[in-house]
Amino acid sequence: LPNGAAAKAGLNRSIADAGWGVFLRILHAKAESAGREVIAVDPRNTSRTCPHCGHTAKENRPTQEKFHCVACGHTAHADTVAATNVLRAGLVHRNVNPT
Ligand SMILES: [Zn+2]
Repeated sequence: LPNGAAAKAGLNRSIADAGWGVFLRILHAKAESAGREVIAVDPRNTSRTCPHCGHTAKENRPTQEKFHCVACGHTAHADTVAATNVLRAGLVHRNVNPT
């Protein structure tokens, strides 16, 4: 499917089969071997919050893939918006809790 639903369903099934504990252990090991860091963030509203002005509303998502902020007019792909918000949340968490 164009929106990646089949791939997401497959990943979700794999995670359900292995369990979150196994998934997170593998994820942390892969990240460490790649010199990367895993930071857990609260995903709530990450795809509904405008990365430009911070306005959060379900109306910011007119479709599954479109983001259009009803407050400031910012537009982007919804996945890009969510990824930007998740990254920012992770960086805030790291700055507050440096290792
Ligand atoms: Zn906005």
